[in-house]
Amino acid sequence: MHERLSPRATWNHRDSEELYRVKNWGDGHFAVAENGDATVKLPTARTTDTRELSLPDIISRLNSRGIKLPVVLRFPALLHSQISQLHDSFQAAIRECGYQNEYRGLYPIKVNQRAEVLKEMSQFGRDLHYGLEVGSKTELLAALAHMHDPDAFIVCNGYKDESYVALALRAAKMGLQVVLVLEMPRELDTILAQAKELRTSPLLGVRFKLTHGSGRWSSSNGENGLFGLNATQIVEVVDRLRECGKLDWLQMLHYHQGSQISSLQSISAGAEEAARVYAWLAGEGVGVRYLNTGGGLAIDYDGSRTASNSSKNYDLPDYCRAIVNTIRSVMDDVGIAHPMLLTECGRGVAAHYSVLVFNIADAARFNVSGLPTHLPVDADPVLREMHELACNLTIPCLREQHEKLSGMRASIVNRFPSGRVSLRECALADRILHYVTLQASLAENSESFVKDGALAPVGVDLLYANFSVFQSLPDHWALGQFFPVMPIHRLNSKPARHGIITDLTCDSDGKIKTYVHPSDESNTLPVHHFEPGENYMIGAFLTGAYQETLGDMHNLFGTTHVVSVEVDDEQGFTLGRIVRGDSSRNALTFLEYDIERILESVSAFARNSVNEGKISPEESQQFVDEYETNLGSYTYLNSG
Ligand SMILES: *Cc1c(COP(=O)(O)O)cnc(C)c1O
Repeated sequence: MHERLSPRATWNHRDSEELYRVKNWGDGHFAVAENGDATVKLPTARTTDTRELSLPDIISRLNSRGIKLPVVLRFPALLHSQISQLHDSFQAAIRECGYQNEYRGLYPIKVNQRAEVLKEMSQFGRDLHYGLEVGSKTELLAALAHMHDPDAFIVCNGYKDESYVALALRAAKMGLQVVLVLEMPRELDTILAQAKELRTSPLLGVRFKLTHGSGRWSSSNGENGLFGLNATQIVEVVDRLRECGKLDWLQMLHYHQGSQISSLQSISAGAEEAARVYAWLAGEGVGVRYLNTGGGLAIDYDGSRTASNSSKNYDLPDYCRAIVNTIRSVMDDVGIAHPMLLTECGRGVAAHYSVLVFNIADAARFNVSGLPTHLPVDADPVLREMHELACNLTIPCLREQHEKLSGMRASIVNRFPSGRVSLRECALADRILHYVTLQASLAENSESFVKDGALAPVGVDLLYANFSVFQSLPDHWALGQFFPVMPIHRLNSKPARHGIITDLTCDSDGKIKTYVHPSDESNTLPVHHFEPGENYMIGAFLTGAYQETLGDMHNLFGTTHVVSVEVDDEQGFTLGRIVRGDSSRNALTFLEYDIERILESVSAFARNSVNEGKISPEESQQFVDEYETNLGSYTYLNSG
C-alpha cells in the first residue's frame, strides 16, 4: 500500500479498483490494469506465476473472429485453481487439527452442466481424485461419460427410479465408487431389489435433514425441507438394514445445509449436528466411513465480508478448519475413528470461472436543459405558477420549494388523461421540475436528492444493455442475487456519471437493480460518459455458478456465445472452442416453430404482394433473403 500524501488531481486505475471493490470480490483473480482495462489473472500451466490478461483484448480478438457481444468468457484455469485451493485448504486444516483421515472433493454437476465444464473438471480433478455429485439419472449419464477414476467418488443424490439405481449399480460393478444416497426411505426397497438382481453389494449413503437449515435457500433445507431423511426415518432405515444383515452397506452420511451459507457459525453448527448423527450410526454398528458435508461454501459477491446474503464472514481456510475441527472434536468425544471428509462445493469453486461481457447499445441521459425562457401564451395557470416559482428559487427554502413544485407537476400530469392539459405542457412541467431537482441536489451536494416516481434520480443515465437478465443473470431476476458489475475499460479515467443498466427485454424486471458501491448508495453504477455509437463494455462477474443453465428465453433472447480463454506461452492467450449462442432459428425451433413451414408462408406472402403490385419481384426476393439471414443470426443486437 502506498500512502497518499495529497489528494491526487487525476483519477487512476487504482481509484477504479477501489470504487468497484475489485479486490474484495475478485479474490485475487480480477484487477484493473494501469491502462484502465479490467484484467483476469490466470495461473500459467508450468509455473506458479500468473499472467494478467486484458478483458478488452480478449473481446477484440473475438470480434476479429466475427464473435459479437454479449459473450460469456470462461477461464478454466480459475476452476482448476479453485478446486486445488479447496483441496489444499482441507489438507492444511487436516494437518493443523491432527485429523486422522483424508479429504475428497466432489463437483456438483448442477452448478454448471455444460459438457466443457464436466470435461475440464474431470481432467483437473484427476490428481486429486476429485469426484462428481449427480442429482438425476441424466446427470449420472453425463458423469459416466467423463469419470472413470476408480479412486474418485460419484455420489448419486436425487430421487431414484429402478433404471437410475440399475445404472449406478452396474457402474459400481465396473469398479467405480458410486454411492447411492437415500433421499427417501422407499428408495431402499428399489435398491435392495436391484442389488439382488444384479448380484452386487451397493455402496449406500443416507441424506440427513439437519434440524436447522441456513443460508439463502434455507426454506428448502432444515427439518421441514424437501430433501433427506429425518431422525425417525434414519432409524427406520438402520433397523431395516439390520434385519437384512446389511448394516455394512451404509457407508456415507450426507447432508446439504443449503447454498451460500454466509455465516461460519452456521457451518460449524451444521457439521456438529451431522457429526452426532454419524456417531450414532457408528454406535449402531453401521459401516459408516464417509461424512459428506454437501455444498454451501459462499461467495463474497458484494465484497463486504459480512454474514449478509450476498457475502460471507469467513475465508476458505476458516471454512475448512470449522468443518475439520468440529467433526474431529465430536468423534474424539465419543471415541470413534475420524471419517473421510467429502464436500460438494459448487458455487464456491465455480463462480469465478465465468464473466459475462455485454455492450451498451444506447443511453437515455439525464440532461437538464435549463428553464424554458417562455411558456406558450395559453399555458395552464399551474404551469405558469411553476415557472414563476422556479425563476425565483431561494437557497434556504429549496427543499420546500422543490416539494411544492413536485406537487404542482403531479397536478398537471394528472389532468392529462382527461384532456385538460396538453402533452407539451406535461413536458414543460417535467423540465421545470428536473431543473429545480438538480439545483436542489447541487445545493445539498447530494447525488440523489429526490427519486420522484416519474423522473429518474438526478444525474442518472438509463443504459440500454445488449443482453437479457432473464437469460444471463437469472438469479438476479428471480432471487435478487447480487453480482458485481463494472465497465471493463476506461477505468483509468473517472466514471463520473451514474447509470442504471436495463436489458433488451423491455420488462420492468429486466434490469440490474443493485451495484457494488463503497457507500450505501448501491442503486446506480458509476459509469463513464460515452458518445452514441461508441463502444462501451460492461462485465458481470462471478457468473460461473448456476447462471448458465437456468436462463429462460424471455422475448426470445437465446443463449449467448461462450468461449474458454487460456494462457499460452507465445501469444499471451488462446481462445478455445467457441460455442455459438442461439440464432433466431434455434430460439424459434426450441419453441416448436416449424422453420420450413414458416419460410413457405413468408415466401407465399411475398409472392402475393408481388401479384398485388405492392412490391417488385426483386424486392420480394430481398425480403425473403433478409428474413432468412435474420433467422440465422444471433438473437441479440448486432452492435457489439
Ligand atoms: C446444489 C447442491 C450442492 C451445491 O451447493 P453449493 O451451494 O453450490 O455449494 C451440493 N450438494 C447438493 C445435494 C446440492 O443439491
